[in-house]
Amino acid sequence: MPERELAAYAARPERSHGRRHREPPPRGRSEYQRDRDRIIHSTAFRRLEYKTQVFINHEGDLFRTRLTHSLEVAQIARSVARSLDLNEDLVEAIALAHDLGHTPFGHAGQDALNTCMKPHGGFEHNLQSLRVVDVLEQRYAAFDGLNLTFEAREGILKHCSLRNARALGDVGERFTKNRRPSLEAQLANLADEIAYNNHDVDDGLRSGLLVPEQFAQVTIVARHMKAVLRQYPKLTGRRLVHETVRRMIDTLVTDLVRASADSIRRHSPASIEEARLAPPLITFSSRVREESQELKRFLREHLYRHYRVVRMSAKARRVVADLFGAFLADPRLLPPEFQARAQDNTPRAIADYIAGMTDRYAILEHRRLFAIEET
Ligand code: MG
Repeated sequence: MPERELAAYAARPERSHGRRHREPPPRGRSEYQRDRDRIIHSTAFRRLEYKTQVFINHEGDLFRTRLTHSLEVAQIARSVARSLDLNEDLVEAIALAHDLGHTPFGHAGQDALNTCMKPHGGFEHNLQSLRVVDVLEQRYAAFDGLNLTFEAREGILKHCSLRNARALGDVGERFTKNRRPSLEAQLANLADEIAYNNHDVDDGLRSGLLVPEQFAQVTIVARHMKAVLRQYPKLTGRRLVHETVRRMIDTLVTDLVRASADSIRRHSPASIEEARLAPPLITFSSRVREESQELKRFLREHLYRHYRVVRMSAKARRVVADLFGAFLADPRLLPPEFQARAQDNTPRAIADYIAGMTDRYAILEHRRLFAIEET
């Protein structure tokens, strides 16, 4: 097969804004492929296997973890990138790295750490993902972090407060100048949304916290479930759910490709720099956007606020808050590596330590510090 041509507005490794520390060019792979490979080999990436989104890791083997979520995001983002002639390697690197800075216990853990860090400069998980690849990974002799390209780092930093953006230099500039990131970064962001909405439907039903009948009120799910049942009237259970979710993902991906191709055509950016100056060009159609918002609202109300999820979240918040409080009261409880970091900034070193924990490690560490019979 002939090599696919990248669009004029795609990111090109040979025109990258480069890495923070100069390195010889890679052999046999592009700069963005090297970024992706470094992410896959990182410690933070392996930990994603034991970190969760909605369900806590020990609740079942079949729920999504942040690792499988990141792989789903990468798969969706790559197929859209291919259709739009964007850079597949860059979008894959961003997708695989986008959740590296997440705390244990999903949103609950993040909220808790955020609250603990309020008086100490705050905690933002996107910024933490950047911190992981810029500072916290320690694998290379010549530099801290993974020394990724500007384009991968820009994609990882999805959101950022203005105060932190100012302190970040080039990669924070777009927040202060109101510019967009590359189309690859915009795409990774929406692929994330497609992935979590759909797998939360799947996991919600699998866990029994949601039942199929509830979805009659959600347009996009109801529409596809009805179409499936028209074609396969006897289909029930898991296969009905999978067939419905499969079609929903297909609709969202197809719509994303079509609507984005339209808006790219209208603005016809001649380069990645022009795409950064344009309004967001990777987009759903307004109809599908509304349907996707409706699904999000439904999940918030019925899954994320389900009393069993709320109970787990409360427990998770308590674990994080207890750990933070214990370490802050006595930093000598920290492992030596983090004690050394704590010399400069104790709360930040504690936040780095806790954010790096997997669900099960945080539970174990809590037991070690608080259960009197443990050593
Ligand atoms: Mg995500």
